[in-house]
Amino acid sequence: MVMQRTANPLKSVQFRSRPLKKAFAEHMLRWYDQNQRTFPWRIAPNDHETAPSPYRTWISEMMLQQTGASTVVPYFHQFIQTFPTLDHLAQASIDQVLVLWQGLGYYRRAHHLHKAAKIMAHQGIPQSYEGWLALPGIGPYTAAAITCIAQNQPAVAVDGNIRRVFSRYFGMDGPDWIKNVWKKAEEQLADTRWGDYTQALMDLGAGVCKTKNPACIECPLVDQCHAFSTGTPTKWPTKIVKNQKKKQFGHVYVIFDDQKEHVFMHVTPAQDLLGGLWRFPGSIWALQPSPDPTGYDFSGTLVHLFTHITLHLKIWVDTGSYRNKNGRPYDGDTHCIDDASILLSHPFKAMAHCDMALPAQTKEYSHTTGLSPQLSISEDYENTWGRWIPLNRIHEYPLSRLMQNVLNQAHASFVSSGIIE
Ligand code: SF4
Repeated sequence: MVMQRTANPLKSVQFRSRPLKKAFAEHMLRWYDQNQRTFPWRIAPNDHETAPSPYRTWISEMMLQQTGASTVVPYFHQFIQTFPTLDHLAQASIDQVLVLWQGLGYYRRAHHLHKAAKIMAHQGIPQSYEGWLALPGIGPYTAAAITCIAQNQPAVAVDGNIRRVFSRYFGMDGPDWIKNVWKKAEEQLADTRWGDYTQALMDLGAGVCKTKNPACIECPLVDQCHAFSTGTPTKWPTKIVKNQKKKQFGHVYVIFDDQKEHVFMHVTPAQDLLGGLWRFPGSIWALQPSPDPTGYDFSGTLVHLFTHITLHLKIWVDTGSYRNKNGRPYDGDTHCIDDASILLSHPFKAMAHCDMALPAQTKEYSHTTGLSPQLSISEDYENTWGRWIPLNRIHEYPLSRLMQNVLNQAHASFVSSGIIE
């Protein structure tokens, strides 16, 4: 979890050699030398031959921002194999990056990574905390983590795991405890080996000082730990009451061509959730369910959890029976909506019908005929391009996990009804 803090965490660091600070850092470094976790982006503390790579550290920290380390490992391998250097990444297309990011979630990170690579290819790799912080997608925690791990400079990085260690060790609670943890972390910063020290705290928080069942008996800090001394270490840190997830409802339309060899999709606008990824056309997500559409077969409801939303998405399928009079549904014919009266009640079929940006007149029709809101063509679709995608090449298109699940569900209902094998 990235801390939302904009001030430079180094500003108030004071390099005092107080005994408590020294003991804390020494315990942590000694423990790390014996117990560090191994990851493909890391340099082991006893490896004096290999220099840390800012590029690999940056990639890993971007992936780790919202995702657990064990999930990140195969993605990291694949990413580095495809883009071994900054230049490879800077020269790639955003689609190539997004394809590798599929399944990791929080796709804005991939866009940021791509943008930042292009900036660094021109300006060079930053050499300071402030330089990293100025790049897209990098907040105070990530900037500090890269600076100390890859460039061994003193920087204070406090993520959720490290916050928990400090909160328990010093018994920190109250309304300002999160702010105070940063201050405490600055005071305790080691005098040397800043990268190892930060990674030691990360590893202790992830593997020993766990949220539930901390393994205090294995902890190098146990002798001085306030939370342990009370007998109830899990009372720290103070629980943050999270807002309940909002329920949202929507419809999504999976339109296959007659041969069931292509499926109609379009790119999510960059500013939207899952921006830049390919998606099936669908309604706007709303707080209340909207009436079911007619003219499609119901395939099932998918419940998908986002950080702040529980989405109930009804999946509707169609096999492309709404071809134009010339029988050319996806050849880029701009004039294919000959019978608008049929297509008006099926605006997404209209999109699929043309395999191109929605013609302006279709939008006007939808305004004048008073379609039910869930089927109206939203402004979002005004400049959206759609495409018939061959199913056997769909892996070349970046899809969110949600859309992969939608496709699987639609495909399964076709198989179960015997329409396709
Ligand atoms: S002694 Fe227990 S509660 Fe204290 S820091 Fe170590 S693992 Fe966490």
